[in-house]
Amino acid sequence: MIALVTGASKGIGKAIALELADMGYDIWLNYRSSDESAAETAALIRKKGSEVTLLKFDVADKALVNGALNGLVEEFGPPDILVNNAGIARDGLMMWMPSDDWTDVTDTTLNGFFNVTKAVLQSMLQRKSGKIINIASVSGVMGNPGQVNYSAAKGGLIAATKALAKETAKRGICVNCIAPGFIETDMVKELPVKEIVKMIPMQKIGQPEDVAGLVGFLVSDRASYITGQVIGVNGGVC
Ligand code: NAP
Repeated sequence: MIALVTGASKGIGKAIALELADMGYDIWLNYRSSDESAAETAALIRKKGSEVTLLKFDVADKALVNGALNGLVEEFGPPDILVNNAGIARDGLMMWMPSDDWTDVTDTTLNGFFNVTKAVLQSMLQRKSGKIINIASVSGVMGNPGQVNYSAAKGGLIAATKALAKETAKRGICVNCIAPGFIETDMVKELPVKEIVKMIPMQKIGQPEDVAGLVGFLVSDRASYITGQVIGVNGGVC
C-alpha cells in the first residue's frame, strides 16, 4: 500500500505521512526545498517499518511533477492514497498585494492539486480504487481579510474537490477536503498566536496530529461512503 503526500517534509504533511506509515503505508514523500527536514521525516517513517521514496519537486511545475511521478506510477501503479497538502501563504491586504503573491499562492494550491492529481488519476480510475484528500483551509470556507489570494486558492480547491468527487465516485474513488483552522506549524509562526487563540471557541491552537487523525479516518474502511465533503478541524471557528 502506497500513500503519496505532498509537502510532507514538515508541519501537517509530516504528521499525515507519519499517521499513514503507522497504518502500514509506504510513503512517496514530496517536498520542495527543506532537504534536512525531509530526511528527518523519512528516517522517522523508516523507523515505523515503512519504505520512503523522497520526491523533491515543486508541485506547481507540471514538467517536474510528471518527471518525478510518471515512472513510479508505471512501475508500482498509482498510490492508494494521494494527499494534496503542499501549500504556502503570502498574506497582505489585496490593495498592496504584489501580483507574484497572488500567482505563487494560487499556482501552488490549484496548479499543484491539478498537476499531482492528474499524474495519478487515470491509473486510479483504471484500477477503480483510491482516496484523494485535499488540505484546504477555514480561510477557503469563510474568507479571511489579508488572505484574498489564499482564500481564493483554498476555496477553489474545495470546489475542485466536490466536482472531482462527482466525476470519480462511480469508479470507487473518494475525494474529500479537510479545512483546518489554526494549526501550530512554521506557516503560522509569524502570526500573533495569543490574539488568535482568543478568537477560537476552544481557546487553543490545533496540532498537526489533529489533522492527521482525520486523514487516518478518511482513508479507513469506516469512511468508505464519504466523498465530496469538506470537514473542518478548527476548534469551532466555523
Ligand atoms: P508548512 O509547515 O509551511 O509546510 C509546508 C510544506 O509544503 C513543506 O513541506 C513545504 O516543503 C511544502 N511545499 C510548499 N510549497 C511547495 C511546493 N510548491 N511544492 C512542493 N512542496 C511544497 O505548512 P503547514 O502549516 O504544514 O501547511 C500544510 C498545508 O496545510 C498547506 O496547504 C496549508 O495551506 C494548510 N493549512 C495550514 C494551516 C495552519 O494553520 N498551519 C491552516 C489551514 C491550512 P519545503 O519546506 O521543502 O519547501
